[in-house]
Amino acid sequence: MKPHASSVARTLSFEEALSEVESKLTSAGISPSIEFASLDQAWGRVLAEDINADRDYPPFHRSTRDGFAVRSEDVRGTPTSLTLDGEVRAGEHFDARIEAGHCVAIMTGAPLPAGTDAVAMIEHAHVKNGKVEIERPVEPFENVVRKGSEAQGGRRILPRGRRLRAGEIGLLASVGKGSVAVYSRPRVAIIPTGDEVVPVDCKPEWFQVRNSNSAMLAAVVASAGGVPHQMGIGPDRKELLRGLIERGLEADLLLLSGGVSMGKYDLVEEALEELGAQFFFRSVAIRPGKPLVFGRVRGKFFFGLPGNPVSGFVTCNLFARPAISVLAGSTFERPIFLRARLAKPVRQRTGLTTFTPARVETREADPEVSLVGWQGSGDLVGVAEANCFLVLHPEQPSPAVGDWVDVMIMES
Ligand code: AMP
Ligand code: MG
Repeated sequence: MKPHASSVARTLSFEEALSEVESKLTSAGISPSIEFASLDQAWGRVLAEDINADRDYPPFHRSTRDGFAVRSEDVRGTPTSLTLDGEVRAGEHFDARIEAGHCVAIMTGAPLPAGTDAVAMIEHAHVKNGKVEIERPVEPFENVVRKGSEAQGGRRILPRGRRLRAGEIGLLASVGKGSVAVYSRPRVAIIPTGDEVVPVDCKPEWFQVRNSNSAMLAAVVASAGGVPHQMGIGPDRKELLRGLIERGLEADLLLLSGGVSMGKYDLVEEALEELGAQFFFRSVAIRPGKPLVFGRVRGKFFFGLPGNPVSGFVTCNLFARPAISVLAGSTFERPIFLRARLAKPVRQRTGLTTFTPARVETREADPEVSLVGWQGSGDLVGVAEANCFLVLHPEQPSPAVGDWVDVMIMES
C-alpha cells in the first residue's frame, strides 16, 4: 500500500460521500458572476434575478372552451333559452354588459364579457332562431380561468437560483423577459492521466487506449451547466501531473481522470498532496467507482475520478454534476432515483451501492428495467445500450423479478 500523508482512511457510504460533497460545496460561499442571456441562449442556465409577474395571469377571466358566455344564475335550471347578443373571439373584447337572459358566443382564449361568469360548452348548446338553448346547468366560473388565478401582478414567479428549462423559458417569454440575468458558467478543467492513454485522433499501438474519458466527462460537464476545458493527457509522472494540475487551477473545478487507485503508478493523489491539497474522502462504497477522491487545493475543489470509463461516468454524474450545479449558482442538484419493476433477475453484493447500466422501458403497465449486457467498468459498448443505471443499496437483498427497484436516468 502507498503511504498517504493526510490519508482519510475510511470508506464512506454513498449517502455519506454525497452529503460531504453537498456540505463542502454549499458552505463554500460560492457566488458566480452575472451575465445576460437572451431566451434562445438561456436553456440550462441558472437565473440570477427574481422575476415578478408584470400583470395578472391570466390578465382577464379567460374562456377555456368554445361555447357561450353566460350568467351562471340564468342557467341553473336547464334547458334554458338565452338571447344571443353577438360573438367574442380570442384577441377581441366584447364591451357591452350582458344582461339577464342574454349570452355571447365565445371562443377559447377570449375574455368573458362583463356580466357573464361562466361558459357553456358548445357541445351542450344549440342555436335556434337567434336563441341559444343551454342543455346543462353551468356552475359559476365553469370553463373559465379567473383573472390573476395563476399569478397576481407583482408576485414573484421565478426565484433567483432557478435552473431554466423549457417551462421556465416559456414563462419568462410570457412576462416579456426577452433576456435575463444568469450566472456565469463555471469552468471545469478535465485532466486525463495515464501513460497508456493517447489522443482520440491517434492510431493507438496495440497496448494503448484512446482518451475517451475527456470527451465523455466534457459532455457531462456541459449538460450540468459547466464549460469543460479539456487539458492535455497527463503521464504517470508526478512532476508532470503537478504542472498540469497547477494549470488546471485556473478553472473553478478540477476533474482528474485515472491514477487514483492503489497501483504503483497511481500518482494523482501524491501530486495533489505536494500542492497542499486537503482530502475530504478517498474511497466510497459504490460499484463501479470505489476509488473516488474529493478534496480542495488552493481554494479549488477537485474530484479524482477513476480511470475506468464507466466508473468515471457514474461518479461524475453522481458527485461532480451536483457540485457543478452549485458552482453554476443553482442548488446542489442531487441525483434522482425513480422506481421501475425488475424484468430480469439480478444479484446484489451487500456492502456496496451498485450502479449498473440498464434500460428502462414503459410498455403497457409499469416501467420495467433490465440490465444490458455488460462486461464491467471498462465497457462503454454496454453503457451506450443503456438509458439508466439500476441502483441497488448495500443492505438490500437481491430483488426478485417484478419487484420495484431504484433506477437513475442517465441525464447526460
Ligand atoms: P486507472 O484508474 O488509471 O487505473 O485506469 C483504469 C483503467 O481505465 C485502465 O484500463 C485505463 O487504461 C483506463 N483509462 C484511464 N484513463 C482513461 C481515459 N482517459 N480514457 C479511456 N480509458 C482510460
Ligand atoms: Mg492510470
